[in-house]
Amino acid sequence: MKLSQRISGLLGDGSDGWEVFIKAREMIKDGIDVVELTIGEHDIRTAAPILQDMHKAAMGGHTGYAAVPGTDALRQTVAKRVQERTGVPTGPQNVLITPGGQAALFAAHMVACDAGETALYLDPFYATYPGTLRGVGAIPKAIETRAEDAFQPRTGDIDACAAGARSLLINTPNNPTGTVYSRETLEGIADVCKAHDLWLISDEVYDTQVWDGEHISPRALPDMAQRTLVVGSMSKSHAMTGSRCGWVVGPAEVIESLINLATHTTYGVAGFIQDASDFALNQGPAFEEDVAAPFRRRRALGQEILEHQSTVGLTPAQGAMYMMLDIRATGMSGEAFAYALLEAHHIAVMPGESFGAAAAGHIRVAMTIEDGAFVQALETLCEFANTLIV
Ligand code: PLP
Repeated sequence: MKLSQRISGLLGDGSDGWEVFIKAREMIKDGIDVVELTIGEHDIRTAAPILQDMHKAAMGGHTGYAAVPGTDALRQTVAKRVQERTGVPTGPQNVLITPGGQAALFAAHMVACDAGETALYLDPFYATYPGTLRGVGAIPKAIETRAEDAFQPRTGDIDACAAGARSLLINTPNNPTGTVYSRETLEGIADVCKAHDLWLISDEVYDTQVWDGEHISPRALPDMAQRTLVVGSMSKSHAMTGSRCGWVVGPAEVIESLINLATHTTYGVAGFIQDASDFALNQGPAFEEDVAAPFRRRRALGQEILEHQSTVGLTPAQGAMYMMLDIRATGMSGEAFAYALLEAHHIAVMPGESFGAAAAGHIRVAMTIEDGAFVQALETLCEFANTLIV
């Protein structure tokens, strides 16, 4: 039977950039001890009190269909959190609860773009972005940021691609680069969106992981609330990746339309997951800082190692759980380096090229293993890079 073009064309050129990761997983299956610095998942599990609350909610009967837009309590809590952190008036009518940030990205583009319209995104990018945009029928168009700018986007580069486009997707703190967009960058982006009448879809799933500078939500910039859809998630802030709970925040009429979409796709998120998410969000910022602390620590340890050598360059790593390392001095592509490192030292990292052309000659290191092993792996990686220079 013939598959739809929408599905068969989802990956564009057919590669999703996960080949090194898959090879590493095969090696592990063959009994080889591989140090995995690939995917963005904490090395801790969801905290026991959150799981206890989830259990209580499920045992208490919250296992039937939950309200499609999200429970009143969770929508209220997300709205309060967003308002407190951004100053933008936000109520439950501005919030749709989704099964994770990924579903929120899809929903936001479904409401923003018609089939055949151009959806802009910035390169390097989170690996699912182009497929998500294709999935809603839009035509993805990447705008390259530059290593020499530490991957802060240039307003002029976005402006040059914006005519006729419908939306722009940004992500700060950024996966894969670790860049936190400055106020100046975000104000420039807001100006382009207003000048070209673009929807701005702002992926803020790493908003609790900022090591340098501050997280600014562009929804809070002048006249941006009516054209900005914010994507949030419990995954990174509360180590709840498997619970699949996220949200879209935007204008009330957009959320109304998204509730229609949810009715015909996901039909909501499990009630006991929502109750536990509400409980987790109400633990406050200190809890979130505890979840982020290992990455803050490892980023400092990693910086220290990189400062004591000159072969491997570090993009400033201002936020999120990754370090983007520049290995161009070795003369290798990110992909060739990642394969060679895996072969020689059984250390798995993601090639920069997995995240777009702008990250060529780089590798992304996830700071997701225990401190001592992380330090050892990074030292080995730097020594290995050094041996490649002749
Ligand atoms: N956005 C970015 C930038 C991510 O890195 C991820 C996950 O790695 C997601 C969205 C999706 O997260 P989730 O669907 O778990 O909320």
